[in-house]
Amino acid sequence: MSIYLAYVCIVQLITIVFFREYHLLVLLFLMIPFSILLLNRKWIHITYCLVSLLVTSLVCLYQNQIINAPKPKPAHLIQGEIHTTPIIDGNKISFTFKLKEQKVMVVAYANKQSDMSIFQRRTIDDFCRLKGEASQPEANTNPYLFNYQEYLMYQDIQWIQTIEPKSLNDCVQGKMSIIQKLISGRQHVTRYVESKFNENIEGVINALLFGDRTKMSPHVESQYQIVGIVHLLAISGSHISLLSLVTYFILIRFGITKESSLILTILIIISYGFLAGASASVVRAVIIGVLVCIIRLLKIKLNLMTPLILSCILMLTVNPSYIYDIGFQFSFVTSFTILLTTKRILSYQSWYAKALFTSSTTQLSSLPILLVNFHEFSPYSIFINLIYIPFITFIILPLCILCFIVSCILPGLSWIFEGLVTFLIECSNKFLDLCMQLPFVKLVFIHPSKTIVLLYFIIIFAIFYFMEEKNDQIKFKISLYSFFFLICSHYFFPNVNPVGKIVFIDVGQGDCTLIKLPYNKGNYIIDTGGIVQFNQEKWMKRKKVFSTGTDILLPILKGEGISNIDKLIFTHGDYDHIGGAYEVLQLFPVENLIIGDKLNFGKVEQERIDLAIKKGTNIQKVSEGFSWKVEDFNFQVLSPIKGYVGEENHGSIVMKAKIGDKVWMFTGDVDESGEKSIISKYENVRSDVLKVGHHGSDTSTSDAFVRAVAPKFAIISVGANNRYGHPKKEVIDRLQGTYHYFENRPSWSNIL
Ligand SMILES: [Zn+2]
Repeated sequence: MSIYLAYVCIVQLITIVFFREYHLLVLLFLMIPFSILLLNRKWIHITYCLVSLLVTSLVCLYQNQIINAPKPKPAHLIQGEIHTTPIIDGNKISFTFKLKEQKVMVVAYANKQSDMSIFQRRTIDDFCRLKGEASQPEANTNPYLFNYQEYLMYQDIQWIQTIEPKSLNDCVQGKMSIIQKLISGRQHVTRYVESKFNENIEGVINALLFGDRTKMSPHVESQYQIVGIVHLLAISGSHISLLSLVTYFILIRFGITKESSLILTILIIISYGFLAGASASVVRAVIIGVLVCIIRLLKIKLNLMTPLILSCILMLTVNPSYIYDIGFQFSFVTSFTILLTTKRILSYQSWYAKALFTSSTTQLSSLPILLVNFHEFSPYSIFINLIYIPFITFIILPLCILCFIVSCILPGLSWIFEGLVTFLIECSNKFLDLCMQLPFVKLVFIHPSKTIVLLYFIIIFAIFYFMEEKNDQIKFKISLYSFFFLICSHYFFPNVNPVGKIVFIDVGQGDCTLIKLPYNKGNYIIDTGGIVQFNQEKWMKRKKVFSTGTDILLPILKGEGISNIDKLIFTHGDYDHIGGAYEVLQLFPVENLIIGDKLNFGKVEQERIDLAIKKGTNIQKVSEGFSWKVEDFNFQVLSPIKGYVGEENHGSIVMKAKIGDKVWMFTGDVDESGEKSIISKYENVRSDVLKVGHHGSDTSTSDAFVRAVAPKFAIISVGANNRYGHPKKEVIDRLQGTYHYFENRPSWSNIL
């Protein structure tokens, strides 16, 4: 029976994936039960499944048409209900808003602190009349980054309405259903936790008890991510089983009959599911919990696979876009693995052998999802999991529960538990800091192609399949060796990759170029972009400040399989060129930092140079005449002069490079007089590609310079609708006619 359900589940997945974009990965992770079915030649089941294929494909086609149909632009004044719990971060509030004909994402930014009290009053289900302008979410212009447009699309949202903060006054409290009361209850408890506990532990309590990770420190969260234990911060099956067991036994203790206790337990876990934020892994755990209770209630004998597969089908039928949720993918793939290997797990005598086996198999099966989404894997994760699973599950979680309950009932005593949890969390954070120092703590893998993902899944499936066959130990070993061969080839692929790349990364208003030489001979970055943060008051500050370094450059570097930067080049010290370098230097190994040979450095540049020195990066001051060569690739610095003093843009590093069969000119923000002196000093500045100076401002790219360089392509790096009016029409006119030119407006990045 369960195998049949598994197959139905897979056909549903195929259909959903087939009618939306391909998403091979998710389709493949359910290959395990599918293959068992085929290998057992259950032809009747296959016929059933083909029928269900027809039904599900029709359902999906229908859903697909509804979701992808363009929705009309909302008017200036919209009326409707707040559909999700409002999220307040710094001076920003955001929530989903339900109009008559569609859902929109509403955002507002408080200008005055008094606006914040208006924000805090709003809860789910309020009926509001909001004034603001609608816009469509921007499409991603860089690869490997979080795709907000897609994220909204999966929630069936096509418009973002930016409203005036005051208009949130024009609301009436709606009549909440029980479910909405529970959802808004979550908002109250998380705020209660925030107000009651110190900042070291409020994030952990909210994450572990109410599934709200937004209060965690981004630094700690990224460490959990790197060593592969971030899943422990999510509410999962173990929470729900703990809750249902405790509730059930307490009810039985109070003399309530088995049947009534089971029904009450069902109600309690469903309520908790809403209180815990109803994320994909929570929903899965709740459905399974409820199904297990029902099975016990009806006294049916079923293995645990059936509830797992049923919950998968149920979730995807109600909301097919769950399939794109990474939490959904991880939580199902690990649960499938544990259930399929239960026999093996139980065959081990000692608890640590059991734990080691479970930890390695779950890591193995979820590895492709990890590599596709995060491009890094820590070889220590299996062992760190062995320490952290019991630490979080048996020590931190119960203490957090106690902490929360005691603070409600006996507030005078809560400091005991609070102190204990704070101490343990601090120790754990120190331990993770130490782990970060380990050699090879994170291995970076280049973004795998569809074929590589397919290979991973086939080989991983083979490992699991032959592991069960007692007589096929040779085949098991072969699949294990193939796995190691595959993962090593994947890891070392950049070293044998004959294709180089030059990427002009879209960092908005600013410059950032990545040069990746073939065979991993060199990874250079010229400037990192940087968004100027205006001085904000404390109440306005977001939990996580956007940085071109962490939010754009680092994910791209990882996706490109780059694990260290050979040369980071600062053309000059303006923030739009080196702002994001702070995070890059902090989080990424940089061998050489190349800066202009200037007598004085501005504050921003000096801060970054100091950090680089602290991190052990080699600092190289360069001026005209400096050059280096890697095989056939030539890099020549044309400007500035040695010991330069003066205006920043004029002192930009200008570089001519011969890479592949093209000559490239990188100009930083050099101005017209700088260009003049370059033309007068160098006879041959002809280049195929010109990175246009100073974002297409009319103070650069003079006629004489364009004639001398005679580029076939010109790249202008500017922000969409920037306030400087870049690029200027004169500059485009100078470049046009004879030459092609590219421009990243609204925003653009490309590979030539
Ligand atoms: Zn600039």
